[in-house]
Amino acid sequence: MPTQIPNIIYDNHGRPITYLRLAVTDRCNLRCFYCMPEVGVKYLPKSKLLTYEEMLRTVSVLSELGISKVRITGGEPFVRHNMIDFMYQLSEIEGINELNITTNGILTGKYIRQMKEMGVRAVNLSLDTLDKKRFFEIARRDEFDIVYKTLFDLLDAGFEVKVNAVVMDGKNTKDILPLVELTRNHKVSIRFIEEMPFNGEGAHYPKLEWNLHRILSEIKSKYPDLQKLTDSPNSTSYNYQVPNYQGNVGIIAAFSRTFCGTCNRIRLTATGDLKTCLYDDGVLNIRDLLRSGITNEDLKNTFLQVFKNRPKDGFEAERGRKSVISESMTTIGG
Ligand code: SAM
Ligand code: SF4
Repeated sequence: MPTQIPNIIYDNHGRPITYLRLAVTDRCNLRCFYCMPEVGVKYLPKSKLLTYEEMLRTVSVLSELGISKVRITGGEPFVRHNMIDFMYQLSEIEGINELNITTNGILTGKYIRQMKEMGVRAVNLSLDTLDKKRFFEIARRDEFDIVYKTLFDLLDAGFEVKVNAVVMDGKNTKDILPLVELTRNHKVSIRFIEEMPFNGEGAHYPKLEWNLHRILSEIKSKYPDLQKLTDSPNSTSYNYQVPNYQGNVGIIAAFSRTFCGTCNRIRLTATGDLKTCLYDDGVLNIRDLLRSGITNEDLKNTFLQVFKNRPKDGFEAERGRKSVISESMTTIGG
């Protein structure tokens, strides 16, 4: 077990808990087929969503327990009213040293200056293809041009940009090599993600045709001298670089779940469900606790209890669910 640092909470498997992924909304302006059904999406009533005040209070309490990094996600974060003001407030919470965001890039461009101003360093941009037609087939909205422009605007503004591309059999595997090629002249990280079963389509579990090994051999078919980079301690991706290229390439084995041993993250859904693993179905609801008048001290103790009962990995978490996976990633935040 690694040496434990005081003031950081370690779970029952000796993993530090330092990172919160905060889904601020379940709404979205795209309909990526791996994430949401095309029609019939039932958004939750606003009264069920955590308010900004509730999120700020929760993050403050978590920061006292050693959470120092927050990633905003969703749904699409920027569709929530006054998101940028909320981000400013989050960035001012003592102990939160790193504030990042995952976004689909449609509304993001106009907030670049403010994100820089508040100290956001890294932006994850979802872009599964470099082909406008395939973008429409995947995201079911004709928004490729704006997302592609946002990518370069973010790079020009000096953000550390990671492009998230979910690899889908028969949909965008032709994009793997062109996406890698983007790293030749741009200091960007392209991260290929194994497709997970969180598509909101009900209880169906896709067979994983493109796992990390297959994605890696596809890349090596064109770039045989691809170099392995050293992965940072809590990295979810295996990272590589084509020699002399400016950017790098990562593969996230989200379905194979090879990264659980170093997992330092928890998730809060837009409705306040706390997830201590991506694959669990929520260990408690923070919204209900806050609205029932819990004190910060009791909230802290509640967090401590659940952190000491984390599943070892995503397989154990999945076995412990009350129901089979049928939810959409918009409710989880990726
Ligand atoms: N709307 C924002 C976006 O798309 O970047 C943030 C929320 S989205 C749910 C967060 C990440 O989850 C995205 O990078 C998306 O590609 C990924 N994602 C969504 N559904 C997925 C699935 N079924 N399998 C793997 N990744 C998925
Ligand atoms: Fe929306 Fe992001 Fe899900 Fe696509 S992946 S539907 S952009 S929440």
